[in-house]
Amino acid sequence: MAEKRDYYEVLGVEKGASDDDIKKAYRKLAKQYHPDLNKDDPNAAEKFKEIGEAYAVLSDADKRSRYDQFGHAGVDPNFGAGGGGYGGFGDFDMGDLGDIFGSFFGGGFGGGSRRNGPARGRDIQQYITLTFEEAAFGCTKKISVTRRENCDECGGSGAKKGTQPETCPTCHGSGQVRQVQQTPLGQFQTATTCRTCGGSGKIIKEPCPKCSGSGKLRKTKNIDIKIPAGIDSGQTISARGQGEAGSHGGPSGDLLVTVEVAPHKLFRRDGANVFIDIPITFVQAALGCEIDVPTIDGQVKHKIPEGTQSGDQFRFRGRGIPDIRTGARGDQYVKVSVEVPKNLSSKQREILQQFAEESNEKNYNKGRKFMDILKDYLNK
Ligand SMILES: [Zn+2]
Ligand SMILES: [Zn+2]
Repeated sequence: MAEKRDYYEVLGVEKGASDDDIKKAYRKLAKQYHPDLNKDDPNAAEKFKEIGEAYAVLSDADKRSRYDQFGHAGVDPNFGAGGGGYGGFGDFDMGDLGDIFGSFFGGGFGGGSRRNGPARGRDIQQYITLTFEEAAFGCTKKISVTRRENCDECGGSGAKKGTQPETCPTCHGSGQVRQVQQTPLGQFQTATTCRTCGGSGKIIKEPCPKCSGSGKLRKTKNIDIKIPAGIDSGQTISARGQGEAGSHGGPSGDLLVTVEVAPHKLFRRDGANVFIDIPITFVQAALGCEIDVPTIDGQVKHKIPEGTQSGDQFRFRGRGIPDIRTGARGDQYVKVSVEVPKNLSSKQREILQQFAEESNEKNYNKGRKFMDILKDYLNK
């Protein structure tokens, strides 16, 4: 895998870009590279993932500040894992690095890492695409996750069934060996990782045959994730404890699922509101009519009053998308566009010419006002 690109560069924004600019840039690129819209471009999916990843970090104030300070190492649980990448699972054990970053951000850096203490498992980041309706109404999705779980044979200890790991005789379980050195500057005490046990503080005499003593097994599981109604692109659901198993009795990490909502053929969405454009004929607009308007609940009849203009908008209260927290639904906005007929038959042309002769200025309010203003302007 190539070196990770700078997240700001990925989204094409300046380092000091506002949250709004970041959101805008993300929306534009996500639309452009959405895999459903780029079936012929094998790179689109990768690109889409990269954009989603950049957005997940830069849209979160906490993650963004860590990224600004430490770069990718500050935010990516898989940092350094060759071939794995974000949301991927290389066969590289990142336990040690995880601890280092853990103490980095926990503020305890410099106190020496406690490698044999309980450590929380890493989070796993996944991305899914939902249909417009799935996001609007909520759904349950099966997410396939490959993660390290505690070995069911030895319960995560790594020791063969019926045996226990023994306390390391060299370091007496601390995982570190202290050495005192006399120098001209005084007495120095240094602590190094115990070589006998590799810092774990324990020695496994008879390793568990199932996990070869690691205490962990890599497993792929399908996990049901409940998606709440009203979720929007860029939002993340976390399933507690569904990430990688912790080590030395520490809790498991979380599974983080970041959502992208696919565009809909008819509806557009902005937050809880839904927008739709409906074309009507100029005759329907002039005479008024009843039309069927699609909503996310199904079709609704709506009366278009006579004299409706192109661009007029109607609001259907409560026909929008539920708020993810309160469940209160937004509105649907219906914008009418009046179509002017093309390719007229000679009969139609004749009728329209009669219509023109029959018409006088009184039918065209806006046009008359505009002509008055224009005359005033030209006479100045
Ligand atoms: Zn085992
Ligand atoms: Zn030891």
